[in-house]
Amino acid sequence: MAKDYYGILGVPSHATGEEIKAAFRRRALELHPDRSGLERGPFQEVQEAYDVLSDPERRRKYDRQRKARKQRPTARRAPRKSRAEPLIPRRARPEPFAAPTGGSRRPPRPVRALCPRCGGGGEILGHICPWCDGRGEIIVLLG
Ligand SMILES: [Zn+2]
Repeated sequence: MAKDYYGILGVPSHATGEEIKAAFRRRALELHPDRSGLERGPFQEVQEAYDVLSDPERRRKYDRQRKARKQRPTARRAPRKSRAEPLIPRRARPEPFAAPTGGSRRPPRPVRALCPRCGGGGEILGHICPWCDGRGEIIVLLG
């Protein structure tokens, strides 16, 4: 029921029954498949529009629905505030390193070490060592 029957017939929404009939005849002649060579679709739409608008009861019903559609507010509601947790929960934020039982602990420090895989050569059997990427050394964290 989303079709604009008045638009299909080309009449104003306050058109009288006579005007609607006249408009239908005009449009039907224009769009009749035998004459226009068009598909049946447009002609059927005109017929459908006329069927509804020429029947006072159906036209009243259609007008009501049409009016209701127009009055429906189009503005969308503001999006609801997201209740999702922030991406980083408070507790997971990095905290200063501290031992649980008092006293302070130093953060682990990165130390370079000879690559245990290639023994510092940077390659294994002629291939670049995948552990150290050929550097011959790796970074280890000493805590
Ligand atoms: Zn290596």
